[in-house]
Amino acid sequence: MKALRDAILAKSQTIGTDIIKVDSFLNHRVEPALIAQMADVFAQHFAPEKPDLILTVEASGIALGFATARALHDIPLVFAKKHAAQNQRGNYAQARVFSFTHKQDYHIRVDLAYLPKDARVLIIDDFLADGQAALGMMSLVEQAGAQLVGIGIAIEKGFQPGGEKLRKMGVNLLSLAVIDRIEDGHIILRDD
Ligand code: 5GP
Repeated sequence: MKALRDAILAKSQTIGTDIIKVDSFLNHRVEPALIAQMADVFAQHFAPEKPDLILTVEASGIALGFATARALHDIPLVFAKKHAAQNQRGNYAQARVFSFTHKQDYHIRVDLAYLPKDARVLIIDDFLADGQAALGMMSLVEQAGAQLVGIGIAIEKGFQPGGEKLRKMGVNLLSLAVIDRIEDGHIILRDD
């Protein structure tokens, strides 16, 4: 997707050979027009799957998940929580995820009241690296007895195994931009 590719090349920063910071347009400061364009591409690709809801993880997936939910004619967005609230009640599905960026485990949880059995679920997230966050969300979908219809990712890091893992599993995966590698601090994108 050209607008996202341009933003990655012009506005992101790299940390070492494997971390990309996109705080200036996606992860901290958010550019609504760009997010809306990305959401339109997801909506066009996944509309035939007739998703009932979108699932993401707080916090970085929320803006893109929300925009995609709107583009799919206002289906609900459900974001899995990373912190158990004091007032947590109800019946929760939970999965353990190893964070690539923080190098530690965390739990994601979702109230099953908002992830109904048999619902057709589209997962949206900002990055795909080793695939741990995606697999965690897929576990929530499975625990709920819901059905995964696809995964939409803004930026896939093609030099990590998540994308290949999910494609081998037969997941309908759409990544809007794929980074092949970081070379001397420069991002090399894979051709569309
Ligand atoms: P995975 O679970 O696929 O290993 O990593 C995906 C998750 O880790 C995403 O939800 C994202 O928040 C975070 N992540 C992984 N790699 C990067 C990166 O290079 N930059 C940023 N900003 N986040 C990343």
